[in-house]
Amino acid sequence: MSSKMASRKKPAPKLDTTFCCPFCNHPGGVSCTIDLKLFVATAVCYVCQEAYHTTAHYLTEPVGVYHDWIDACQKANQDVDCFKPQRRVGSSDDDDSDA
Ligand SMILES: [Zn+2]
Repeated sequence: MSSKMASRKKPAPKLDTTFCCPFCNHPGGVSCTIDLKLFVATAVCYVCQEAYHTTAHYLTEPVGVYHDWIDACQKANQDVDCFKPQRRVGSSDDDDSDA
């Protein structure tokens, strides 16, 4: 192996609190804040003003709030898929003779 992997340690263990927006895809547009007094976590995009609120606890991390938002978006997309006409996959149910 001539080219060895550069294994630099990160200079500071700072947690990411800004993320790419799932709506406008603006890098770093989303900032997560966690209020442990109200136990509410908020993720807001300052670009498109989309926001997501969820419950928080002492172990909640900004990245977790962001992932919850992504999950909520994906579930919303699945709900949209429900409006499409459902297609039956594998309609080969001809073997109905078990007598
Ligand atoms: Zn956005």
